[in-house]
Amino acid sequence: MIIDSKKYGGLCSCGKEHAMATRLCVIEEGALSRFEDYMWQAGVSGKRCAVYAENTYDIPGLIHPKAEQEVVLDSKGLHADEVSTAKLKELLEPDIEVLIAVGGGTVHDIVRFCAGELKVPFISVPTAASCDGFCSNVAAMTWYGYKKTVACGAPTLVVADVSVIAKAPLYLTATGVGDMLGKFTALADWKMANAVTGEHLCPVIYDIMNTALLKVWDNCLQLANGDMEAYEAMTYGLLMSGLAMQMIGSSRPASGGEHHISHFIEVEPAALGVRSDALHGEKVAVGTVIAAREYHRMAETEDISDKVVEYAPLSEDKLMEVFGEKLFEACRDENAKDCLAAVTPEKLKAAWPAMRAIIKEIPTGEEIFARLEKLGAKRTLADIGIPEEKLPFIIENSPTIRNRLTLMRMRRMIKV
Ligand SMILES: [Zn+2]
Ligand SMILES: [Zn+2]
Repeated sequence: MIIDSKKYGGLCSCGKEHAMATRLCVIEEGALSRFEDYMWQAGVSGKRCAVYAENTYDIPGLIHPKAEQEVVLDSKGLHADEVSTAKLKELLEPDIEVLIAVGGGTVHDIVRFCAGELKVPFISVPTAASCDGFCSNVAAMTWYGYKKTVACGAPTLVVADVSVIAKAPLYLTATGVGDMLGKFTALADWKMANAVTGEHLCPVIYDIMNTALLKVWDNCLQLANGDMEAYEAMTYGLLMSGLAMQMIGSSRPASGGEHHISHFIEVEPAALGVRSDALHGEKVAVGTVIAAREYHRMAETEDISDKVVEYAPLSEDKLMEVFGEKLFEACRDENAKDCLAAVTPEKLKAAWPAMRAIIKEIPTGEEIFARLEKLGAKRTLADIGIPEEKLPFIIENSPTIRNRLTLMRMRRMIKV
């Protein structure tokens, strides 16, 4: 399967111009044996350096893309941080014109960041269907202990060899499933925000994502049997998710209330009092089960006319209490122009029937939980090291991590 950006860029029926920086995205068995051909098709030339982590360099069946230089980073303690990026820049020969990332999310973020700094194109060769960040145009970095996302270039070309990806450990693929199933609540949040405030929703991108998601939903249990079609659907879904974000210029199609739960846990708010070492997709999986359960619970109420309250801004004292001094300012700034302020009780009441219909389309928390369980994926707060009694606290406060209109955020005004 080949995704050609020419098909997706340009003026859309939604009235917006979409841009896709990734020229070509290949998802095929044996794609790496045709790597040179795809480089030529994508118009990429120049002296190359391929970057690996130690534990991906010798993956069985991995054909190494031809490169003038190969760098193998020590897997131990490898993070997308100031140490690894400095190391890579130090090792690079001075006249490198193309960087190739071969591996998972961390290697991709390190290479993406360095390619951005050196202003050279970067090529993505994912070796596991573990997250949707491969096609992204931001790098998730940890800078001197602080997490931050840095805008850098998206890959010019992605060569995803499904025969390599299918051999990755199942737990890694299961984290990708978690990231992908999160699109159920993310897409629902997008559609509900559109129903309440008229926020722009591109039906073309929505449909592409929804179709990719349903294909993963239908096939994900076959991943444990090594089914190639299931791996192809997974890889396509994750890559398309990154491309959708490029097209719309934000993470809206891929991230809603469930991702905010993941991010909330990740920043370690003072009042949470615990930290989780779980992978991104594992936290998103848990967030998705929580959000799906909560959304379906809310949708049980047919008439909310006497259960809606006026908008009230977030209290700074509350933010300080939840996040602590270290995170307070960033959180206050994030919420300074609270998107919920555009919502009125009248708008909520009018949109509620449509919102309930949107929620009905999401599989229930129990259905999502069952699939994750069959795949052996993490699915409860306890699984990711968070005490279950933190659930109400997480549901209430996680939306404040990101100023985006989700049902989780609108919950502040809907007392059901
Ligand atoms: Zn994600
Ligand atoms: Zn559009």
